[in-house]
Amino acid sequence: MRKTVSLTIDIEHDCPPYLKTYRGIEKGLPGLCSVLDGFGVKATFFVTGDVASKYPEEIKKIAQHHEIGSHGYSHKRFDRMNFAEAAYEIEKSTEILCRLTGKEKLDSFRAPNLVFPERFLYLLKDNGYSIDSSIAKYKPGWVLRRAVSNIDILRVPVSATSSLLRFPFGNQLIRRLSHPVVLFFHPWEFVGMQHEPIRCDCRINTGAKALSNLEKLIEMFKSDNYRFCKMSDFLK
Ligand SMILES: [Zn+2]
Repeated sequence: MRKTVSLTIDIEHDCPPYLKTYRGIEKGLPGLCSVLDGFGVKATFFVTGDVASKYPEEIKKIAQHHEIGSHGYSHKRFDRMNFAEAAYEIEKSTEILCRLTGKEKLDSFRAPNLVFPERFLYLLKDNGYSIDSSIAKYKPGWVLRRAVSNIDILRVPVSATSSLLRFPFGNQLIRRLSHPVVLFFHPWEFVGMQHEPIRCDCRINTGAKALSNLEKLIEMFKSDNYRFCKMSDFLK
């Protein structure tokens, strides 16, 4: 069977919780989309309701070629929410994104910070979701978390942290990840963040270098004969 790789992009304001700007959406997203579209790669974009309301045209454009999933409304952490707040975040973002994409429901969800308590999983089901990609293979206990759900939601783990793309030899480390490979990035990583007051690993090799690494990454997976999958392809 052909190995698969999924490129997923979490669309939120810049480098939370440090910044409140949207340079990633305004300056990073166009370059990122033109690389994906140039290679004919279909990706999954997990979008916050907040960004979708501020940048509706950008999200509609992405939806023409790629899958749109929800990334909550405000990018607050779900493990710090009560039931009513979690329900609001999911319902509100779903409503906005469905309206923009003209869809009755979305398939895929990813919680901010890859943290989504099991007690909220049925809220996803209630809102029409079939996939939760809020767990990560590089965080402890992911196997348990994937298995624990008695709710009919497919839990697709992320394979590696987003900054790996920007680390020296990161692509070589990504090449060794086990199949299926699920990667995630943010639009702000494709904007120069070297002078922003953010964590050191968030700053390193952002901007043009990150975009060039992404091109090399896609070429690498193509030469290794990987198939590029959207999240919803996991349902087939
Ligand atoms: Zn996020």
